[in-house]
Amino acid sequence: MIRIVKKAISLANAPALTEIELGDRARDWAEVLFDVVPEEHLQDAFKRAARDHKTSFPVSMHDVRIAYEQIAADELREEKRLREKFLDDLDAERKLSNRFECKLCFGSGWKEITEYDSVNRPYKGVIKCHDCRHWEYYSEKLKQNSTGKMK
Ligand SMILES: [Zn+2]
Repeated sequence: MIRIVKKAISLANAPALTEIELGDRARDWAEVLFDVVPEEHLQDAFKRAARDHKTSFPVSMHDVRIAYEQIAADELREEKRLREKFLDDLDAERKLSNRFECKLCFGSGWKEITEYDSVNRPYKGVIKCHDCRHWEYYSEKLKQNSTGKMK
């Protein structure tokens, strides 16, 4: 905490404090930040506060607290994104493993279509199905396998 207070003061080009003043200041900061910012995030929060800081005043414990709240919000967002991606992948996997999930290709990746020739006679053809995520998932799987083999 003393190190952080020292840094806040030197970054702002403010006159250095005596050891006693520094100790008092650090204790004040610690009292306020103790319950709010987990110790392992103190450095991060301070760095971010210093970076986002727009005035010539030293970074205050208020800035550090705000910065930590932003860090926590970012982490929450990232966690949420990963969770959604996980569910999304799970869904894609389910669609593949359940052959009857995709009503057009039944999980094969190929669907039948009806086309018309020049004299308007219908004929059947087979094209890649893009109504489900078969091919997207398939290429993802290939990528994973090839990088796995190279190791
Ligand atoms: Zn399909």
